[in-house]
Amino acid sequence: MALELGRRLKVNEEVDHIDNDPLNNDLTNLQILSQAENLAKQEHKKLPLVKIQCAYCKTIFERRRDQVTERQRRNLASPACCSRSCSAKLQYQLGHSAIQPGRH
Ligand SMILES: [Zn+2]
Repeated sequence: MALELGRRLKVNEEVDHIDNDPLNNDLTNLQILSQAENLAKQEHKKLPLVKIQCAYCKTIFERRRDQVTERQRRNLASPACCSRSCSAKLQYQLGHSAIQPGRH
């Protein structure tokens, strides 16, 4: 590990897997965190994250599982958005398509 980083880790540094997959040792997936930072992340990790695609901008984002409904996770009736602004735009878009005037 120290070799891959090009230097030895300091005592208070730990290598962290950004995507939380310990088997993914790709350099782009590794970051050095201080022990305190890593600890904070471990705490956060206890709640599993689910990946969701924003219904508006199609960005893949993560939400804690307890913040997501089963329907949102499957992108069914209640679309999930990455941000409030995407949510607002989506509502606007849906509202407009729902009241489309008849064709002339
Ligand atoms: Zn979005």
